[in-house]
Amino acid sequence: MTAKLLDGKALANHIRQTIQQQVQARLAQGLRAPGLAVVLVGENPASQVYVRHKRNACAEVGIVSKAYNLPLDTSQMQLLDLLDQLNEDPEIDGILVQLPLPAQIDTETVIERIVPHKDVDGFHPYNVGRLVLRMPLLRSCTPKGIMTLLAHANLSLEGQDAIIIGQSNIVGRPMALELLAARCTITVCHSRTRELAAKVRNADLVVVAIGKPQLVTGDWIKPGAVVIDVGMNRLDNGRLVGDVDFDSVSKHASWITPVPGGVGPMTVASLLENTLQAAQPRTI
Ligand code: NAD
Repeated sequence: MTAKLLDGKALANHIRQTIQQQVQARLAQGLRAPGLAVVLVGENPASQVYVRHKRNACAEVGIVSKAYNLPLDTSQMQLLDLLDQLNEDPEIDGILVQLPLPAQIDTETVIERIVPHKDVDGFHPYNVGRLVLRMPLLRSCTPKGIMTLLAHANLSLEGQDAIIIGQSNIVGRPMALELLAARCTITVCHSRTRELAAKVRNADLVVVAIGKPQLVTGDWIKPGAVVIDVGMNRLDNGRLVGDVDFDSVSKHASWITPVPGGVGPMTVASLLENTLQAAQPRTI
């Protein structure tokens, strides 16, 4: 079997065009463009790249992004003060604090300081709780983007055995909740999981988010399984690879996301969707 590609790049392009039209429609109604505050602390090169992609995507669809680039030695209090201002700012609909944060700043405290209706990353406990209860509002961008990708390929999820490798707050856990809400039977694995490969071999849907280059190989994959590779790892030779060994896994899977061009663009597309959603009048 040679897997078909779940082309996140193409779908994200399509989503961006739709959002651009929706932003234009807002302007035509006399409403302002949605506003996103993008907060970056320090100069982590990977974070700078991610922030640049997100801001470029905003510009492309007509979302106004405002950059807040703070020095590495910013104190937690200074960052919280900025968030308080942005929470009150009527022109800001969404607030994104790029992670990871420097050691002197507590990530959870920062996430909780953002008012939930501006939490376009979907990381606030309120928004995670809404997803737990199957009443999602703003959903974490990477899992949301994966669900959009699966839906676009018309892949039926109900009753499927899904395995998620990785249990981080930003990918693995919300991914498990999304798939549970879609009526999959879920198994969540992590660094302490025993006999990981044997567990993966039983799964119809495999989502890998661990940050270990090409750990999952073709012999782990049940024939016909759908494989979603969230990992983004830069090898010493400069090549960007996922957590999945694409060449061997694509011989067993029915569908697979490439890296790059799979989950990454869908994450950014979901951020744009969430920002537009946050700009709409609230019903709750
Ligand atoms: P993390 O470091 O917060 O969590 C990694 C998880 O993997 C942990 O739960 C850990 O227990 C588990 N793990 C580590 N080694 C393992 C092993 N050998 N076997 C089983 N489980 C193992 O990582 P994260 O923030 O969730 O990111 C994971 C990967 O996804 C990274 O490569 C990151 O760059 C990438 N990522 C991509 C996007 C995107 O949009 N494409 C978004 C977020 C993260």
